[in-house]
Amino acid sequence: MSTSIREPEQFAFRAEITQLLHLLAHSLYQSREIALRELISNASDALDKMRYVALTEEGYRDQAEGLGIRLEGRDDTRDLVVRDNGVGMTREELVENLGTIARSGSLEFLKNLGESKADLSLIGQFGVGFYSAFMLADHVTVRTRSYREGQGHEWRSDGTGQFEIRAIDKEDRGTEVILHLKDDLRDLTKDYRIKGVVRTYSRFIPHPIRVGDEVV
Ligand code: ADP
Ligand code: MG
Repeated sequence: MSTSIREPEQFAFRAEITQLLHLLAHSLYQSREIALRELISNASDALDKMRYVALTEEGYRDQAEGLGIRLEGRDDTRDLVVRDNGVGMTREELVENLGTIARSGSLEFLKNLGESKADLSLIGQFGVGFYSAFMLADHVTVRTRSYREGQGHEWRSDGTGQFEIRAIDKEDRGTEVILHLKDDLRDLTKDYRIKGVVRTYSRFIPHPIRVGDEVV
């Protein structure tokens, strides 16, 4: 791999996404933890897709084993990681899914927020749930490797207009969303807090969710 390919490439978010991120980042919404529900739901979707691939595509039959989600707090760096071994994303999928393609619901959701009649907890229903990560985090890193590729990719943003993508080495298939938590949310690195949020908001996820040694 040549080093030039590993240079990060910069992208601008679509205008309405930038606006949405600004509102989310400055939201005083009481239950910002619902963002974890959105990330867990995305991880679960990616696991469903992987199971489907294993059942329908030649050569992936044994890959339906061991599908799951893991949440891990890192106290020293103030990170919270949501990891899955689902389908992952190619570089093109990262660019499209996390920032550059218009999502029909995003404008509608923004409009509701502007008129402050929006219930922020409904964000997932507008197809922009991922961005709620910026309610919890001042920086978000997504490390991912598609089941179709050997090459991994990393997406990073501080939620202010731009994101960047670069090639990375990633050993295993799937996606890792790393939330660099806002200062007032640093206790979300603690297992008991993470478990509490999972039990409150993600009770009906049809895949194992591990925190520490426990399946929550
Ligand atoms: P939605 O889940 O309603 O499509 P989101 O904003 O939550 O909207 O996510 C946007 C897209 O990003 C998803 O549709 C999916 O393609 C991609 N994505 C997000 N998280 C993951 C993940 N953990 N694994 C694979 N793809 C993901
Ligand atoms: Mg989602």
